[in-house]
Amino acid sequence: MPELPEVETIARQLRELVVGRVVDGFESLWVRLTEPVPAEHVAARLRGRRIVAVRRRGKFVVFDLDGGEALIVSLRMTGQLLFHENGAPEERFLRAVIRFADGTALHFADTRKFGRMAVVDAAVLGQGARPPTGRGAPPPGPRGDRPRVPLHESLGVEPLSRAFTVKWLSAFLQRRRRAPIKPLLLDQRGIAGVGNIYAIEALWRAKIHPLRKAGSLRAQEVARLREALRWVLRKGIRYGGASRRDYVDARGNEGRMQREFKVYAREGEPCPRCGRAIVRSVVAGRGTFHCPRCQRAPRIGFPARRR
Ligand SMILES: [Zn+2]
Repeated sequence: MPELPEVETIARQLRELVVGRVVDGFESLWVRLTEPVPAEHVAARLRGRRIVAVRRRGKFVVFDLDGGEALIVSLRMTGQLLFHENGAPEERFLRAVIRFADGTALHFADTRKFGRMAVVDAAVLGQGARPPTGRGAPPPGPRGDRPRVPLHESLGVEPLSRAFTVKWLSAFLQRRRRAPIKPLLLDQRGIAGVGNIYAIEALWRAKIHPLRKAGSLRAQEVARLREALRWVLRKGIRYGGASRRDYVDARGNEGRMQREFKVYAREGEPCPRCGRAIVRSVVAGRGTFHCPRCQRAPRIGFPARRR
């Protein structure tokens, strides 16, 4: 599943390839791609519009259009955005085509069909610089009583932005102090763009067990976690993202980050830091990997001594 580094890689490539091009037509080949909006409405809003910028927000690819709107694409599990100069053969799992006035085209292929597209007001995407104590977008409650706001309107802070400070992260972790740290890192309303793989790698780098309660992290650990998240995400971008199953960049090439994983998908292999065998577990329904020596498990069943 593409996470921040994969989506960033795609957005940077598409910036070179499609900025300045004018949309001539949009065709959806999968009825749920643009739901709840009919594909003809999306086509009508795209036709004749010039793409003025391509960027990433969370895990969305954002095509800014002249006039203040934006086409946002959620790749989800297996979505691929592939640019074609002209006359390219159609991908087997082609779900949509954006044709440009100059004869080039952008194809959206998606095996699993979870990917989505929408045309939105670019202003609602925000920059993720919301103050940690602000009431603008309350975090979801413990029983999933999420505000009924579309995800693209409630994305949290960008971890590579200046807003992602130790101070911000401390306040965020305190606000969600009872939550286990790993699922919390995956909540797009808190920190936008981090997914399973990079959360696992960052927690190993920061020497924090995935089940630690967010509020139990010491100041030093919070600072280490922030550094680790930024480090693994930047490295992921530098290596063109990680290709597990379906991820390819906008030119159809695989990333190289999968060779750099320290613990992800390395069950039973020695920890690169201490040599202990990496353990796989399931945390909040997601496969997780950690080193049982470097990442000490929290004591279960006893309240924390420090009060
Ligand atoms: Zn270790």
